[in-house]
Amino acid sequence: MAVDVTMDKIVSLSRRRGFVFPSSEIYGGMGSTYDYGHYGVLMKNNIRSLWFQTMVQERDDIVALDSAVILNPLVWEASGHVGGFSDPLVDCRTCKLRFRADQLEQSACGRKPSKHPGEWKECDLTEARQFNLMFQTQVGPLEDSSATAYLRPETAQGIFVNFKNVLQLARRKPPFGIAQTGKSFRNEITPGNFLFRVREFEQMEMEYFVPPADAERWYRYWVDARYDWYLKYGLRESMLRKREHSAEERSHYSSGTTDIEYLYPIGWSELEGIANRGDYDLTQHTQHSGTKLEFVDDDGTRYTPYVIEPAVSIERIFVAMLVDGYDEEVVADRERTVLRLHPAIAPVKAAILPLIGKNTDMAEKADALFQELRRRHVVEYDDSGQIGRRYRRQDEIGTPFAFTIDDQTLEDGTVTVRDRDSLAQERLPLDGVARWLGEALEKPWRTPKA
Ligand code: ATP
Repeated sequence: MAVDVTMDKIVSLSRRRGFVFPSSEIYGGMGSTYDYGHYGVLMKNNIRSLWFQTMVQERDDIVALDSAVILNPLVWEASGHVGGFSDPLVDCRTCKLRFRADQLEQSACGRKPSKHPGEWKECDLTEARQFNLMFQTQVGPLEDSSATAYLRPETAQGIFVNFKNVLQLARRKPPFGIAQTGKSFRNEITPGNFLFRVREFEQMEMEYFVPPADAERWYRYWVDARYDWYLKYGLRESMLRKREHSAEERSHYSSGTTDIEYLYPIGWSELEGIANRGDYDLTQHTQHSGTKLEFVDDDGTRYTPYVIEPAVSIERIFVAMLVDGYDEEVVADRERTVLRLHPAIAPVKAAILPLIGKNTDMAEKADALFQELRRRHVVEYDDSGQIGRRYRRQDEIGTPFAFTIDDQTLEDGTVTVRDRDSLAQERLPLDGVARWLGEALEKPWRTPKA
């Protein structure tokens, strides 16, 4: 039977195994802000580097950028964020809670039993007003309005304002893209659902500049390419869908937006968005900065490229991968929790386990193998406790392979390799393990989860 994966189970596993902690916990936490522990950091690094590998390393047409978090405030005037990056907010005068006016159906009122805001006769909601989601800060020692700046709410604008630099210095011509990853900040009105909606998150965005006539084709291309990326890294097709926005839902400058949605425990929700932003951003920055952001071809034709933008946060991928991988099953009368992560996403690639930790011959051989493998992969050495328990610890953090050094290793120089998903065990020559692991990690992987 398919396991019921709730957000509570994901939060609890993340906490128990040190993936994610509530931030500033010893001070009572800091609403919807999280810190990542060892395995969380490793998994985030994997997600980021696989994105980078696909978007930049394996392509000729996309270059990298790392722009600042705090930009000239005029950038945000030009982009429309100062005037329009807001959500409609309502306050309840009775329970004193705040809600997003466009999400009342998904919000819970403060009274018990919980209903949607506005459904109790005591509910007294204010008119909706616009609330800007950008965090403000002061730059320099003067606390006057001229020193007001913003923490970026998206990484994209840092790309647009560098368009000319990249065009000239990286000698690119459309179609070409600029990719960057980095922290973004939004003062969300109703954060929550674990990492799904947080106030500080790491975005991975790519702006792909194309001749206007080709924009529609590239937009479709990127929707498909990004969807396929999730399948490649193990998300189940039944849990993914593409949802194209209607004209009313789209931003005024967008002529096409598609969300890749995942079936999170909270229901189908946006994992990644792909938008055809037209020439809006480059035109806005040209007008506000006075610097022409356009492409001039060798024959003198000039135009403002259109932009296709795939944008996602590591957090939303992280949650989707944990939900997709989480499984519970009974093996030999004992329950095990296992994270069936794609091996490339798994924080630890293999565990090295001497069957009897106190046996110096076994420990020596296991340590030599550990030292050899750690030069290429994140691997773990564990010699404490019963072997069954050690396997279960690794299952819970999603380690795809475990190599056990036992009596037979001392006799014939072979080790057991155990597969996390099938639990199959086979013996391999000790001196072939590094090669075997390298090849196993390169193989395509599909989840056995229903
Ligand atoms: P939503 O409608 O869920 O608020 P959005 O449409 O405002 O999202 P975009 O501005 O398109 O989101 O941001 C691009 C991507 O950044 C999203 O697809 C999502 O992956 C991620 N993202 C946006 N806001 C958050 C957040 N508060 N926490 C985590 N990830 C986020």
